[in-house]
Amino acid sequence: MLSGVFFNILVNICLCNKVFGVDYMKIVEMYESKKPVLSLEIFPPKMDYPLETVFKTLDELKKLNPKYISVTYGAGGSNRGRTVEIASRIKNEYKIESLAHLTSIGHSKEEVYSILNELLNENINNIMALRGDIPGGVQEFDIKNQEYMYASDLIKDINKHSGDFGIAAAAHPDGHPECSRLSYDLNNLKQKVDSGVDFLTTQLFFDNRIYYDFIEKCTQIGINCPIVPGIMPVLNAKQIRRIIYLCGASMPAKLLILVDKYENNPEDMQKAGIEYASRQVEDLIKNGVPGVHLYTMNKSQQIAEIVQNVGLEITTK
Ligand code: FAD
Repeated sequence: MLSGVFFNILVNICLCNKVFGVDYMKIVEMYESKKPVLSLEIFPPKMDYPLETVFKTLDELKKLNPKYISVTYGAGGSNRGRTVEIASRIKNEYKIESLAHLTSIGHSKEEVYSILNELLNENINNIMALRGDIPGGVQEFDIKNQEYMYASDLIKDINKHSGDFGIAAAAHPDGHPECSRLSYDLNNLKQKVDSGVDFLTTQLFFDNRIYYDFIEKCTQIGINCPIVPGIMPVLNAKQIRRIIYLCGASMPAKLLILVDKYENNPEDMQKAGIEYASRQVEDLIKNGVPGVHLYTMNKSQQIAEIVQNVGLEITTK
């Protein structure tokens, strides 16, 4: 008969899937490569759209040979099931590593643990751990009443749950909009990394100098993990204004001129946006970034153009 202790160990090992030879690779290991790593971000379609629409996009994105694909999470859990299902199909059917986003805002610890178990059951062990935005229009919403106040609280819990998870977190080169000073934000970021983060992905930015300065400041305060630049092409003037309003990224004059010029000409706006993002990526690669994370907005053709413009250097073949 198995002793109680031995039985528990066996159950834990089985739960971790290792007995079945499941490959639990942590994404951070990819950044040890000398070549820049191409990764992509997609979002689940809204609940009233068929889930299958995103797989048509993924069929195309797969051709770009990304090393991993991240799947966003609706803060508050509105499309939680869809994030897990899409991330699972990316990993288990498309055979591409997936990075499942998880926002803690609005979630209890119990709910978070249940999501972590779901992810491990689907062989997903890489998480982008986020706090999420404070809901707009909700009166008297007090972050202090949340079980998780900051992303770092979530990160500590993920590490407590299981050492199997590779953990990414968000960095904000332009400063997080809630924080009154970049230096405070940086110190909070340092605390977040120290709570157990493997690598950081940045919020979108449109001026590479902001990213380079940010990296310098991070190094000065001892943030030494890979900091992957997140790039979003401007494909729609109205949409980008809304995104900037929400995330607090600044827009350099040369991009503002393009957005003003092509505001009422969507086709030329797209061309200019693709060209602008391609030059940004090219410059980043020249300057030795660990990789580039493209915010695809589920637009495969435009993303393919950027990858082609930049050339084979970025691909991981
Ligand atoms: P935190 O790191 O918790 O920071 C939030 C604020 O609190 C900052 O101002 C910070 O300076 C401050 N702070 C942190 N720690 C402390 C502390 N100890 N004391 C005092 N102040 C502190 N949103 C979604 O809803 N779904 C997604 O899938 C999603 N994916 C994203 C992916 C990336 C790469 C990025 C950059 C953002 C993403 N977001 C997503 C947006 C993100 O949820 C928001 O930017 C959110 O407002 C902040 O999340 P965070 O994890 O950076 O929070």
